[in-house]
Amino acid sequence: MLEHDSRIALGVSGGKDSLSLLHILKDLEAERPEAELIVVSIDEGIRGYRDEALRLTEEATDRWGVEWVSIGFRELFGLTMDEIAAMERRLSTCSYCGVLRRRALNEAAKNVEADRLATGHTLDDMAQSAMLNLLRGDINRMALFDPGGRGLQGFVRRIKPLCEVPERESALYAYINNIDFQSIPCPYSEESMRSEVRRYLNRAEVMHPGTKHIVYRTALKIAPEANTDRIRGLCKICGEPSTGTICRVCRLISDLEDGV
Ligand code: SF4
Ligand code: ZN
Repeated sequence: MLEHDSRIALGVSGGKDSLSLLHILKDLEAERPEAELIVVSIDEGIRGYRDEALRLTEEATDRWGVEWVSIGFRELFGLTMDEIAAMERRLSTCSYCGVLRRRALNEAAKNVEADRLATGHTLDDMAQSAMLNLLRGDINRMALFDPGGRGLQGFVRRIKPLCEVPERESALYAYINNIDFQSIPCPYSEESMRSEVRRYLNRAEVMHPGTKHIVYRTALKIAPEANTDRIRGLCKICGEPSTGTICRVCRLISDLEDGV
């Protein structure tokens, strides 16, 4: 996933997983003088939730001496998540947030000229994503299921170093190392299909230990067999790589503006 001289943008949300990964990577970086680590955070504009997470991230980066940059949905897309949530829309809040957040993280990583974009996705997140891809019939995402990331044109290579670490172990790591993290959930999280899948997988893991690993491993085996839409060119509106003439981000924003 990493080279000895990687310039890593680490997406930190302020939760236990990303702050635990920051704690691990800053120690690794200290042992490798050619490597660089910059923390990037996305402010989606969720009042009473993201502000606390950003404060915890700022405190952690100050304490550990790591550069930190933050970028907001408002400056990138002209809207906050609270505003999107209050608008007429056809998808769940998290569907907009997920797409915009991926774009924002890529932008932030490009801005700091990183060659890796690391995120704190754990085994639990990976198994949830695998199930969601299947339930939504999203062959594209199934094909791109790869914790080591790919060098796709226009995208900073995404890596998920905690992909095989259960969430409970990441929480334990945070407690053992006295890491102060945000524990309140996002006010919109219950709207998402991911919450249902999370509950299901947690129950299945209790009844059938190893389920999350099996789902994750199976998704890794399926990925090379699935076909993905090729990036065909640049979006006519924002100029970012896109499989069609207009990218998904611009389609979502324009639908919101049209009240669709
Ligand atoms: Fe965004 Fe949904 Fe996550 Fe909240 S729970 S931060 S709305 S994706
Ligand atoms: Zn676009």
